Order: sequence, then C-alpha cells, then structure tokens
Amino acid sequence: MLVDKEFGEIIVRRNAWSRNVKFTVSTSGRLSMSVPKHTPDFLVKRYLNSNREAIRNKLPLNDPATQRTRDYQKKVLMKKAKEYLPYRLEYYAKLYGYKYEKCRLTHANTRWGSCSSNKTISLNIGLMKLPEPLRDYVILHELAHLNHMDHSKAFWEEVGRHDKNYKIHNKKIKLFNPGV
Ligand SMILES: [Zn+2]
Repeated sequence: MLVDKEFGEIIVRRNAWSRNVKFTVSTSGRLSMSVPKHTPDFLVKRYLNSNREAIRNKLPLNDPATQRTRDYQKKVLMKKAKEYLPYRLEYYAKLYGYKYEKCRLTHANTRWGSCSSNKTISLNIGLMKLPEPLRDYVILHELAHLNHMDHSKAFWEEVGRHDKNYKIHNKKIKLFNPGV
C-alpha cells in the first residue's frame, strides 16, 4: 500500500501477467494500481505522478451524486472551521506573541496551511477532520513561519518550542489527506 498526499491510501497490486500500469477506483473511492510484478517502489510513484490528471478524471468526483455529497460535506466543514480555526489561531498567536494580518480558510487539496509574506495565514477547512493535536501542530507550524519563511533548523526549533511532539505530528499528518 502507498499513501499519497492527494489520493490517500492506494492499493498497489503487483501482477505477474500485467504488462503495463492500470488504475482502477473501487466503489469506496479508493484508488488501486496494478503494475508489472517486479516494479520497484520508486517507479510506482513515478507512474502515479505522471498520471495524476488522468486519475483525477477517473475518481468518482465526476459522479453528480458523489459531487453533491462532497459539496454538502464541504459546507458542513466550512461552517465548523469558521467557528473554530480563526479563534484557535488567535488563541495561540496571543499565547506565544505572534502577530499575523489575516486568517483565511481554504479547501485546497494539497496543503493543510500556508503563511504568506504579507502575514496572511491560510488554514484548510479539512483540518476539522483531524485529531486536535495534529490540528494544533499545523497552526503552530504556520505561526512559526511568521518568523521563518523556510523550513530551516531555526524554524523547526521554534515549532518545537510550542509543540514538543512536532516530529511525530509531522509524520502522522502525512497519513491524512487535506482534500474534502
Ligand atoms: Zn511549512
């Protein structure tokens, strides 16, 4: 199995008889990939990366019923996010003395949060699906970017001052998909 940032868990099947790579989507929406038997992992990842667009078109996202469910889920998450994330951000900013300009809520598929040079912090509404420690980790990570616009040693030291389990959180969060 492979965990991908965009598509989540992917089942990889290595078949003796398959000559090329095939992507299928199960009814649960999970992606599975069948590849020739001795395909190494790095090649599997490379195939995946070069077929992203085709996979996106295949995903049940195109099905109107699924799309409606997603739209509804997005609405519910947005509502929850509005009532929570800006306040949580403000809470930690006050607690640790950070100054940011604006909090923006997003629903990008690829990232949990970002911090721009004009000190706008964007938080993904998908954060509402995460356990609280991971959600807080993202907030503290973005706040630390106000002082360090990179992922330097100094940046991670600052994250570590406010979240002593940041290394575990940074690893765990990769198991989740920010897409709604
Ligand atoms: Zn970062």
